[in-house]
Amino acid sequence: MAEVFVVANAANKLTYEMLTMARGLGMGDVAVVVLGASGTADSIADNLAEYGATKIYAAEDGVLEEFLVAPKAEVLAKLITEHQPAAVLLPSVQEGKEIAARVAVSLGNGLLTDIVGLTGEGVATQPIFAGSTIVTSRVTKGIPLVTVRPNSLTPSPEAATPERVTVPVEVSDQAKLVAVTDRVTEAKGDRPELTEAGVVVSGGRGVGSAEQFSVIEEFADLLGGAVGASRAATDAGYYPHKFQVGQTGSTVSPQLYLAAGISGAIQHRAGMQTSKTIVAINKDDAAPIFDIADFGVVGDLFKVLPQAAETIKKS
Ligand code: FAD
Repeated sequence: MAEVFVVANAANKLTYEMLTMARGLGMGDVAVVVLGASGTADSIADNLAEYGATKIYAAEDGVLEEFLVAPKAEVLAKLITEHQPAAVLLPSVQEGKEIAARVAVSLGNGLLTDIVGLTGEGVATQPIFAGSTIVTSRVTKGIPLVTVRPNSLTPSPEAATPERVTVPVEVSDQAKLVAVTDRVTEAKGDRPELTEAGVVVSGGRGVGSAEQFSVIEEFADLLGGAVGASRAATDAGYYPHKFQVGQTGSTVSPQLYLAAGISGAIQHRAGMQTSKTIVAINKDDAAPIFDIADFGVVGDLFKVLPQAAETIKKS
Protein backbone atom coordinates (compact mmCIF):
# COMPACT_ATOMS: atom_id res chain seq x y z
CA MET A 1 0.00 0.00 0.00
CA ALA A 2 1.24 3.50 -0.80
CA GLU A 3 2.24 5.83 2.01
CA VAL A 4 1.39 9.45 2.66
CA PHE A 5 4.53 11.44 3.45
CA VAL A 6 4.47 14.17 6.08
CA VAL A 7 7.66 16.23 6.19
CA ALA A 8 8.36 17.38 9.76
CA ASN A 9 11.36 18.25 11.87
CA ALA A 10 9.56 19.41 14.98
CA ALA A 11 6.91 18.14 17.37
CA ASN A 12 4.52 21.08 17.16
CA LYS A 13 0.86 21.77 16.46
CA LEU A 14 1.36 22.10 12.70
CA THR A 15 3.02 18.68 12.57
CA TYR A 16 0.08 17.16 14.47
CA GLU A 17 -2.34 18.91 12.10
CA MET A 18 -0.53 17.47 9.08
CA LEU A 19 -0.54 13.99 10.63
CA THR A 20 -4.26 14.26 11.34
CA MET A 21 -4.93 15.44 7.78
CA ALA A 22 -2.76 12.66 6.32
CA ARG A 23 -4.56 9.98 8.35
CA GLY A 24 -7.94 11.28 7.23
CA LEU A 25 -7.09 10.87 3.53
CA GLY A 26 -7.37 7.09 3.59
CA MET A 27 -4.66 6.99 0.92
CA GLY A 28 -2.22 4.87 2.92
CA ASP A 29 -0.07 4.64 6.02
CA VAL A 30 1.36 7.87 7.35
CA ALA A 31 5.14 8.11 7.13
CA VAL A 32 7.00 11.10 8.55
CA VAL A 33 10.12 12.24 6.72
CA VAL A 34 12.61 13.88 9.06
CA LEU A 35 15.35 15.92 7.37
CA GLY A 36 17.79 17.23 9.94
CA ALA A 37 20.88 16.81 12.07
CA SER A 38 21.66 13.59 13.88
CA GLY A 39 19.20 12.90 16.73
CA THR A 40 16.29 14.92 15.28
CA ALA A 41 14.08 11.90 14.61
CA ASP A 42 14.66 10.33 18.03
CA SER A 43 13.87 13.61 19.77
CA ILE A 44 10.37 13.76 18.26
CA ALA A 45 9.57 10.06 17.66
CA ASP A 46 7.35 9.69 20.76
CA ASN A 47 5.26 12.73 19.78
CA LEU A 48 4.89 11.48 16.20
CA ALA A 49 3.75 8.10 17.54
CA GLU A 50 0.96 9.81 19.50
CA TYR A 51 -0.46 11.22 16.27
CA GLY A 52 -0.47 8.04 14.21
CA ALA A 53 2.88 7.99 12.37
CA THR A 54 3.48 4.37 11.35
CA LYS A 55 6.93 4.98 9.89
CA ILE A 56 9.70 7.54 10.32
CA TYR A 57 12.15 8.00 7.48
CA ALA A 58 15.12 9.52 9.28
CA ALA A 59 17.45 11.40 6.94
CA GLU A 60 19.98 12.76 9.40
CA ASP A 61 23.28 14.37 8.61
CA GLY A 62 25.02 17.61 9.52
CA VAL A 63 25.03 18.55 5.82
CA LEU A 64 21.25 19.11 6.02
CA GLU A 65 21.81 21.91 8.54
CA GLU A 66 25.08 23.31 7.18
CA PHE A 67 23.50 24.59 3.98
CA LEU A 68 20.24 26.29 3.10
CA VAL A 69 17.32 24.12 2.00
CA ALA A 70 18.77 22.64 -1.23
CA PRO A 71 20.21 19.46 0.41
CA LYS A 72 16.90 18.76 2.17
CA ALA A 73 15.01 19.19 -1.11
CA GLU A 74 17.41 16.86 -2.90
CA VAL A 75 17.08 14.10 -0.29
CA LEU A 76 13.29 14.42 -0.23
CA ALA A 77 13.01 14.33 -4.03
CA LYS A 78 15.08 11.12 -4.09
CA LEU A 79 12.90 9.54 -1.40
CA ILE A 80 9.72 10.46 -3.28
CA THR A 81 11.08 8.97 -6.51
CA GLU A 82 12.01 5.74 -4.74
CA HIS A 83 8.81 5.25 -2.72
CA GLN A 84 6.16 6.93 -4.90
CA PRO A 85 3.96 8.08 -1.97
CA ALA A 86 0.25 8.77 -2.58
CA ALA A 87 0.72 12.39 -1.41
CA VAL A 88 3.35 14.57 0.27
CA LEU A 89 2.42 17.14 2.94
CA LEU A 90 4.85 19.85 4.03
CA PRO A 91 4.44 22.70 6.53
CA SER A 92 3.36 25.97 4.92
CA VAL A 93 6.12 27.95 6.57
CA GLN A 94 9.07 29.59 4.85
CA GLU A 95 11.35 26.54 4.81
CA GLY A 96 8.59 24.04 3.99
CA LYS A 97 7.39 26.10 1.03
CA GLU A 98 10.91 26.50 -0.32
CA ILE A 99 11.62 22.78 -0.06
CA ALA A 100 8.28 22.00 -1.74
CA ALA A 101 8.99 24.39 -4.61
CA ARG A 102 12.43 22.91 -5.23
CA VAL A 103 11.10 19.34 -5.12
CA ALA A 104 8.26 20.24 -7.50
CA VAL A 105 10.71 21.72 -10.00
CA SER A 106 13.16 18.84 -9.79
CA LEU A 107 10.42 16.21 -10.23
CA GLY A 108 8.39 18.20 -12.78
CA ASN A 109 5.53 17.85 -10.31
CA GLY A 110 2.49 20.04 -9.56
CA LEU A 111 2.39 21.86 -6.22
CA LEU A 112 -0.38 23.49 -4.15
CA THR A 113 0.61 25.86 -1.35
CA ASP A 114 -1.23 27.09 1.73
CA ILE A 115 -3.93 24.46 1.61
CA VAL A 116 -6.42 24.17 4.48
CA GLY A 117 -8.07 20.91 3.42
CA LEU A 118 -7.34 17.83 1.29
CA THR A 119 -9.56 14.93 0.24
CA GLY A 120 -8.60 11.33 -0.47
CA GLU A 121 -9.04 12.15 -4.17
CA GLY A 122 -6.30 14.78 -3.89
CA VAL A 123 -8.65 17.78 -4.08
CA ALA A 124 -7.23 20.62 -1.98
CA THR A 125 -8.99 23.63 -0.50
CA GLN A 126 -7.07 26.91 -0.63
CA PRO A 127 -8.03 30.40 0.50
CA ILE A 128 -6.91 32.93 -2.13
CA PHE A 129 -7.07 36.73 -2.54
CA ALA A 130 -6.32 37.23 1.18
CA GLY A 131 -8.93 34.66 2.14
CA SER A 132 -11.81 36.38 0.36
CA THR A 133 -12.27 33.43 -2.00
CA ILE A 134 -11.94 29.70 -1.38
CA VAL A 135 -10.95 27.52 -4.32
CA THR A 136 -10.62 23.78 -4.73
CA SER A 137 -7.83 22.49 -6.91
CA ARG A 138 -5.99 19.29 -7.71
CA VAL A 139 -2.44 18.47 -8.78
CA THR A 140 -2.76 16.97 -12.25
CA LYS A 141 0.90 16.19 -12.85
CA GLY A 142 2.79 13.86 -10.54
CA ILE A 143 2.18 13.08 -6.89
CA PRO A 144 -0.03 15.55 -4.96
CA LEU A 145 2.54 17.82 -3.30
CA VAL A 146 0.96 20.28 -0.87
CA THR A 147 2.00 22.71 1.85
CA VAL A 148 -0.44 22.84 4.78
CA ARG A 149 -1.32 26.15 6.36
CA PRO A 150 -1.03 26.32 10.18
CA ASN A 151 -4.29 26.17 12.14
CA SER A 152 -6.20 24.48 9.31
CA LEU A 153 -7.74 21.79 11.50
CA THR A 154 -7.87 20.50 15.04
CA PRO A 155 -5.23 17.82 15.60
CA SER A 156 -6.53 14.54 16.95
CA PRO A 157 -4.22 11.97 18.52
CA GLU A 158 -4.08 8.29 17.53
CA ALA A 159 -1.50 5.95 19.01
CA ALA A 160 0.90 4.12 16.70
CA THR A 161 4.27 2.41 16.91
CA PRO A 162 6.36 3.87 14.13
CA GLU A 163 9.02 1.82 12.39
CA ARG A 164 12.27 3.76 12.01
CA VAL A 165 13.98 3.64 8.63
CA THR A 166 17.40 5.22 8.17
CA VAL A 167 17.70 7.13 4.89
CA PRO A 168 21.20 7.52 3.43
CA VAL A 169 22.04 11.20 2.92
CA GLU A 170 23.91 11.77 -0.34
CA VAL A 171 24.00 15.36 -1.46
CA SER A 172 25.41 16.74 -4.72
CA ASP A 173 27.89 19.63 -4.81
CA GLN A 174 25.21 21.63 -6.65
CA ALA A 175 23.06 21.57 -3.49
CA LYS A 176 25.92 22.91 -1.36
CA LEU A 177 26.16 26.36 -2.91
CA VAL A 178 24.84 28.40 0.05
CA ALA A 179 26.30 27.61 3.46
CA VAL A 180 24.85 28.75 6.77
CA THR A 181 27.54 30.74 8.58
CA ASP A 182 25.67 31.75 11.72
CA ARG A 183 22.36 31.17 13.46
CA VAL A 184 20.78 33.63 15.81
CA THR A 185 18.89 31.96 18.62
CA GLU A 186 16.37 34.28 20.11
CA ALA A 187 15.60 34.04 23.79
CA LYS A 188 12.21 32.40 24.24
CA GLY A 189 9.94 34.50 26.43
CA ASP A 190 7.17 33.29 28.70
CA ARG A 191 4.42 33.98 26.16
CA PRO A 192 3.04 31.16 23.99
CA GLU A 193 3.95 30.90 20.30
CA LEU A 194 1.79 33.26 18.24
CA THR A 195 0.53 30.55 15.86
CA GLU A 196 -0.19 28.06 18.64
CA ALA A 197 -1.67 30.32 21.32
CA GLY A 198 -5.24 29.86 22.52
CA VAL A 199 -5.51 33.61 23.10
CA VAL A 200 -4.01 36.34 20.89
CA VAL A 201 -4.16 40.03 21.80
CA SER A 202 -3.20 42.19 18.82
CA GLY A 203 -2.55 45.88 18.51
CA GLY A 204 -2.69 48.08 15.45
CA ARG A 205 -1.80 51.58 14.37
CA GLY A 206 -4.28 52.83 16.97
CA VAL A 207 -1.81 51.83 19.72
CA GLY A 208 0.23 54.80 18.58
CA SER A 209 3.80 53.93 19.62
CA ALA A 210 6.21 51.16 20.60
CA GLU A 211 6.09 52.24 24.24
CA GLN A 212 2.31 52.11 24.32
CA PHE A 213 2.34 48.52 23.09
CA SER A 214 2.94 47.61 26.74
CA VAL A 215 -0.85 48.01 27.14
CA ILE A 216 -1.32 45.15 24.64
CA GLU A 217 1.42 43.06 26.27
CA GLU A 218 -0.01 43.48 29.75
CA PHE A 219 -3.45 42.41 28.63
CA ALA A 220 -2.02 39.40 26.76
CA ASP A 221 -0.09 38.38 29.89
CA LEU A 222 -3.20 38.70 32.01
CA LEU A 223 -4.96 36.18 29.74
CA GLY A 224 -1.86 33.99 29.25
CA GLY A 225 -1.94 34.82 25.56
CA ALA A 226 0.41 35.78 22.73
CA VAL A 227 0.86 39.28 21.33
CA GLY A 228 0.11 40.03 17.68
CA ALA A 229 0.21 43.18 15.58
CA SER A 230 -1.15 44.58 12.35
CA ARG A 231 1.17 45.41 9.51
CA ALA A 232 0.65 49.12 10.05
CA ALA A 233 1.92 48.61 13.62
CA THR A 234 4.94 46.54 12.61
CA ASP A 235 5.81 48.85 9.68
CA ALA A 236 5.70 51.81 12.06
CA GLY A 237 8.17 49.99 14.35
CA TYR A 238 5.69 49.64 17.21
CA TYR A 239 6.26 45.88 17.39
CA PRO A 240 8.63 43.38 15.68
CA HIS A 241 7.62 42.07 12.24
CA LYS A 242 7.62 38.44 13.33
CA PHE A 243 4.46 39.14 15.33
CA GLN A 244 2.53 40.44 12.32
CA VAL A 245 -0.80 38.74 11.73
CA GLY A 246 -2.28 38.63 8.25
CA GLN A 247 -1.74 37.84 4.61
CA THR A 248 1.98 38.59 4.75
CA GLY A 249 2.38 37.61 8.40
CA SER A 250 1.26 34.68 10.51
CA THR A 251 -2.09 32.94 10.32
CA VAL A 252 -3.66 32.43 13.72
CA SER A 253 -6.84 30.65 14.76
CA PRO A 254 -7.06 30.96 18.55
CA GLN A 255 -10.09 30.47 20.79
CA LEU A 256 -10.01 34.23 21.45
CA TYR A 257 -8.60 36.97 19.20
CA LEU A 258 -8.70 40.49 20.56
CA ALA A 259 -8.01 43.28 18.05
CA ALA A 260 -7.32 46.68 19.61
CA GLY A 261 -6.84 49.74 17.41
CA ILE A 262 -7.01 47.63 14.25
CA SER A 263 -9.34 48.69 11.42
CA GLY A 264 -9.82 45.19 9.97
CA ALA A 265 -8.34 45.48 6.47
CA ILE A 266 -8.84 42.39 4.32
CA GLN A 267 -5.12 41.56 4.51
CA HIS A 268 -5.30 41.52 8.32
CA ARG A 269 -8.49 39.48 8.34
CA ALA A 270 -6.83 36.87 6.13
CA GLY A 271 -4.65 35.92 9.09
CA MET A 272 -7.22 35.85 11.88
CA GLN A 273 -10.76 35.50 10.59
CA THR A 274 -10.99 31.80 11.50
CA SER A 275 -10.47 32.63 15.20
CA LYS A 276 -13.24 31.07 17.29
CA THR A 277 -14.24 34.29 19.10
CA ILE A 278 -13.22 37.75 17.86
CA VAL A 279 -13.36 40.80 20.11
CA ALA A 280 -12.68 44.25 18.64
CA ILE A 281 -11.96 47.53 20.39
CA ASN A 282 -12.01 50.55 18.10
CA LYS A 283 -12.86 54.24 18.41
CA ASP A 284 -14.57 54.21 15.03
CA ASP A 285 -17.93 52.43 15.06
CA ALA A 286 -17.71 52.05 11.25
CA ALA A 287 -14.39 50.14 11.37
CA PRO A 288 -14.68 46.98 9.21
CA ILE A 289 -13.29 44.82 12.03
CA PHE A 290 -16.75 45.05 13.63
CA ASP A 291 -18.20 43.18 10.62
CA ILE A 292 -16.45 39.99 11.74
CA ALA A 293 -16.32 40.62 15.51
CA ASP A 294 -18.41 38.49 17.87
CA PHE A 295 -18.12 41.24 20.49
CA GLY A 296 -17.28 44.84 19.75
CA VAL A 297 -16.47 47.77 22.01
CA VAL A 298 -16.60 51.24 20.47
CA GLY A 299 -14.13 53.18 22.56
CA ASP A 300 -10.59 54.21 23.29
CA LEU A 301 -8.39 51.15 23.81
CA PHE A 302 -6.40 53.03 26.47
CA LYS A 303 -9.56 53.28 28.55
CA VAL A 304 -11.23 49.97 27.64
CA LEU A 305 -8.26 47.64 28.16
CA PRO A 306 -7.29 48.88 31.67
CA GLN A 307 -10.95 48.76 32.74
CA ALA A 308 -11.34 45.23 31.38
CA ALA A 309 -8.09 44.22 33.11
CA GLU A 310 -9.36 45.54 36.44
CA THR A 311 -12.60 43.59 36.08
CA ILE A 312 -10.75 40.39 35.17
CA LYS A 313 -8.37 40.78 38.13
CA LYS A 314 -11.31 41.19 40.52
CA SER A 315 -13.19 38.15 39.20
P1 FAD B 1 -5.37 51.40 10.34
O1 FAD B 1 -6.07 50.86 9.16
O2 FAD B 1 -4.78 52.76 10.26
O3 FAD B 1 -6.41 51.36 11.55
C1 FAD B 1 -6.14 51.87 12.83
C2 FAD B 1 -7.44 51.76 13.61
O4 FAD B 1 -7.20 52.13 14.95
C3 FAD B 1 -8.54 52.66 13.09
O5 FAD B 1 -9.69 51.88 12.80
C4 FAD B 1 -8.81 53.64 14.23
O6 FAD B 1 -10.18 53.98 14.34
C5 FAD B 1 -8.36 52.83 15.41
N1 FAD B 1 -7.90 53.62 16.56
C6 FAD B 1 -7.05 54.68 16.58
N2 FAD B 1 -6.80 55.07 17.83
C7 FAD B 1 -7.53 54.27 18.65
C8 FAD B 1 -7.70 54.17 20.06
N3 FAD B 1 -7.04 54.98 20.90
N4 FAD B 1 -8.53 53.22 20.54
C9 FAD B 1 -9.21 52.38 19.71
N5 FAD B 1 -9.07 52.42 18.37
C10 FAD B 1 -8.25 53.34 17.83
N6 FAD B 1 -1.99 44.22 7.19
C11 FAD B 1 -1.91 43.35 8.21
O7 FAD B 1 -2.35 43.65 9.34
N7 FAD B 1 -1.31 42.14 8.03
C12 FAD B 1 -0.81 41.73 6.85
O8 FAD B 1 -0.26 40.62 6.76
C13 FAD B 1 -0.90 42.63 5.73
N8 FAD B 1 -0.43 42.26 4.51
C14 FAD B 1 -0.61 43.13 3.47
C15 FAD B 1 -0.23 42.72 2.18
C16 FAD B 1 -0.43 43.57 1.12
C17 FAD B 1 -0.02 43.08 -0.25
C18 FAD B 1 -0.99 44.84 1.33
C19 FAD B 1 -1.21 45.76 0.14
C20 FAD B 1 -1.36 45.25 2.57
C21 FAD B 1 -1.18 44.42 3.67
N9 FAD B 1 -1.55 44.81 4.94
C22 FAD B 1 -1.48 43.90 5.96
C23 FAD B 1 -1.93 46.20 5.26
C24 FAD B 1 -3.43 46.41 5.38
O9 FAD B 1 -3.95 46.73 4.11
C25 FAD B 1 -3.73 47.56 6.35
O10 FAD B 1 -3.06 48.73 5.90
C26 FAD B 1 -3.32 47.31 7.79
O11 FAD B 1 -3.86 46.07 8.22
C27 FAD B 1 -3.87 48.44 8.66
O12 FAD B 1 -3.43 48.24 9.98
P2 FAD B 1 -4.24 48.88 11.17
O13 FAD B 1 -5.62 48.34 11.18
O14 FAD B 1 -3.43 48.72 12.40
O15 FAD B 1 -4.21 50.43 10.82
